[in-house]
Amino acid sequence: MSHFKSSRSVIAVKGNILYFTEDPRIAGDKAWHYHPDGMLLIENGIIQFAGDRCDCPAHEEAVTTGYDYSGKLILPGFVDTHIHPPQLSIIASNSTELLHWLDTYTFPEEGRFADPEVCRRGAERYFDETLKNGTTTSLAMATVHAESAEALFREAEKRNLRFVTGKTLMDRNAPDFLTDTPESAFDESLSLIERWHGKGRLGYAVTPRFAVTSTPQQLDAAQALMKEADGLIMHTHLSENHEEIRTVRELFPKAENYLDVYDHFGLVGKGSLFAHAIHLSEGEYERLADSGAAVSFCPSSNLFLGSGLFRMDNAERHSISVGLGSDVGGGTSFSQLYTMAEGFKVCQLCRTPLAATTAFYLATLGGARSLGLETRIGSFQKGSEADFLVLDPEATPLAARRTTRTESLEERLFVLMILGDDRFITATHIMGKPAYTRSEERL
Ligand SMILES: [Zn+2]
Repeated sequence: MSHFKSSRSVIAVKGNILYFTEDPRIAGDKAWHYHPDGMLLIENGIIQFAGDRCDCPAHEEAVTTGYDYSGKLILPGFVDTHIHPPQLSIIASNSTELLHWLDTYTFPEEGRFADPEVCRRGAERYFDETLKNGTTTSLAMATVHAESAEALFREAEKRNLRFVTGKTLMDRNAPDFLTDTPESAFDESLSLIERWHGKGRLGYAVTPRFAVTSTPQQLDAAQALMKEADGLIMHTHLSENHEEIRTVRELFPKAENYLDVYDHFGLVGKGSLFAHAIHLSEGEYERLADSGAAVSFCPSSNLFLGSGLFRMDNAERHSISVGLGSDVGGGTSFSQLYTMAEGFKVCQLCRTPLAATTAFYLATLGGARSLGLETRIGSFQKGSEADFLVLDPEATPLAARRTTRTESLEERLFVLMILGDDRFITATHIMGKPAYTRSEERL
């Protein structure tokens, strides 16, 4: 009998393991699983075990690679449910409000993505930055150029990332160099769907930018696109700013409200993801809830552009699925830790406290659920894809000092949420393998 060398990869990871299997607002402290001094066992990129080290079923000799992150917190990778990769270079551009921000900074910058080389380098920079921040999956808005989405898909495929994007659809109220037509929007999106949707870990999002920049004919095309494949996401913006809402009312005078514009074209349902959703009527909350659509809470952007305060209490009351979004470049950081801190402050202003456990749930399993990816990512349940991040609670002298005063996991998570940023990410792993490791000279 001959013996073949096994090509099986078995990775063992030591550290303080934390993941959610439920929403803490519903399941309380049964929502999370915490194993200090725990172990992850990963076979060919898939979680086989997450728990106490003594319960780990693996024999040491079967392990092909080991990582020792003792003392650090190991979490499922962060999920960013709304971001614009092409706006990376215009983050922190001063503006009074959304529509001025779009005209002054966003549209000229997005125009540069007509050049394939700008798309290629932009995609590299984008994933370098997200991985450095512990974000392993994002729902991203490309520019109107098919090549912008294409370059992001190519780079995500190279890095083996679970990633969703789509070419933006815009056929009015934008500069000529950034507009398509209902026909070209349909044809280019369809060919991207055929090439990339469901390929490896990639998914496609049909992406009308927002009701302001699409004609009814183009929203019809978006509806037709949604029927072209199973599992497509519909990604757009909703009720971010009062001026925007006024414009939508003028453009679609027959619609009952902003959400109704999308509803009229069959774009509201499970798999729909609406960024912002700040200024909503009771009817819009009800319709979002009934349809199973999800919203992305983008607090750093909402504060930066002065758009308004997202009402987490209303979303909770209606059991609407919520994920966190950085919304870079309107948002001011790629870090989901920073996004959580800003979210906490927005909720403070609305007098609806945001527990740290809830914030970490939103940034992991909550985000995965709002993208319909919860069986693949967002937790360490057996069979999940092993995308994870390693958090250092003592990354800075101040955080180390503060952490010595904490007594519970909840308190330590709270400190990480309020003080944390990219410096706290020791490493990010994709399907078990390191994709980013922090250098010791902390930049
Ligand atoms: Zn946005």
